Amino acid sequence: MVSVNEEQTLKERLERERKQLLEEIGQLDEILAQQGEYHEVEGGGVSNHMADDASDTFEQEKYVALRRNLERILDQVNHALHKFELGTYGLCENCNERIPQERLEALPYANLCIKCQSKEEDHR
Ligand SMILES: [Zn+2]
Repeated sequence: MVSVNEEQTLKERLERERKQLLEEIGQLDEILAQQGEYHEVEGGGVSNHMADDASDTFEQEKYVALRRNLERILDQVNHALHKFELGTYGLCENCNERIPQERLEALPYANLCIKCQSKEEDHR
C-alpha cells in the first residue's frame, strides 16, 4: 500500500515535472518562432549560404522532435495528476493491480505495471 506521504511526494514531483516541461516547451516554442521568422526574412533574398540552410532545417527538425517528445511526457504527467483527483493513482490501467512503489519512484507517471508494460511493448 502506498502511504499518503509517499503519494504526496510523488504528486509534488509530478507537479514540478509539469512546470519544468511547460518551461522547456515554451523555450522551444521561442526558438522555433525565431527560426520561423528567420526563414521568412531569408525568403526576401539577402544572400545566405546553402550549408547554413541545411543545418537550420536540421536544427529545426531536432527541436520539433524534442518538443513532440516533451509534449508526450507532459500528457502522461497531466494524466497521472488527473488520476490523483480520481483516486486511481498508482493503479495499473490494464489489470488494476497496484504499481510497485519502486516503479512509481523511478517513473512517477507510469500508467501500467511492469507486467502489462512489457506485454504492451511486445505488441509493437
Ligand atoms: Zn498491469
